Amino acid sequence: MYIDTHLHLDEPWLSDENHRQKAIHDITKHQIITFAQSCDIKSYKKILEYSEQSEFIFPSFGILPWYAHEYVDRFEEVRELCEEALMLGEIGLDEKNARDKACIPHQRPLFEIFLETAEKHDMILNLHFRGTEDEGFEILNSYNVKKPIFHFYSGSLDLMEKINDKGYYYSMGQMNLERVLGEPKDPIIDKIRKIPDDLLLLEIDVLPRGQNFEVPSIVFVNIVNNIAKIRNTTSEEIEALNQKNVVKLVGNDPKLKKIIRLMESVPKT
Ligand SMILES: [Zn+2]
Repeated sequence: MYIDTHLHLDEPWLSDENHRQKAIHDITKHQIITFAQSCDIKSYKKILEYSEQSEFIFPSFGILPWYAHEYVDRFEEVRELCEEALMLGEIGLDEKNARDKACIPHQRPLFEIFLETAEKHDMILNLHFRGTEDEGFEILNSYNVKKPIFHFYSGSLDLMEKINDKGYYYSMGQMNLERVLGEPKDPIIDKIRKIPDDLLLLEIDVLPRGQNFEVPSIVFVNIVNNIAKIRNTTSEEIEALNQKNVVKLVGNDPKLKKIIRLMESVPKT
């Protein structure tokens, strides 16, 4: 079965309602367990609604670091939503892609609210670091967080040694792998190969937009096939690793028992 540990069903990456409904329908039809990410409080509320439409959609509460300055006066509200959430993300540090640089000084305090909650309740934490991987890794290590996921890891190969030693997860997927496969020197190839079997997770992240739109089941198969090629293994093996690692990631979290139940009830693909 397919498990997508990082998908956007809302703004700023999915705004076409027709596409959204097709995606949700496809998730249900193909029984794709989906960790639906949010980028701010508004998108989290929408994700909560979408999760009512499919038992396979699990909402995740996060605020992209780009919007950190908009939440300076709302930390208590953020903290409460963290407490109620099933899982957290996406959240992190990103100076590189921040359109409004006003967010930068506020990213870390916001990030730390999520880290405190993840530590307290042993929650899954979907992390967004761009150009801030080393700093993010240091901050992460100052908390006892056991289930962080480096979403679309874009740091150095050197840092990966340390991340691997800590046993933190990586989710890889949407990154135009077809193009990357045509360029064997692309740095992402080495990164995908350097992830230990027991720390690899799969993600779609963003569905193709406009004319190129495809439903999650189609996109996911491509990701599995491409990652298998890069790691010189079979698609079945990659999918099996993803499932096994999700079981380990979810662990005994009482809020996420349903994920394990769904995995047990869906016939193996
Ligand atoms: Zn994302």
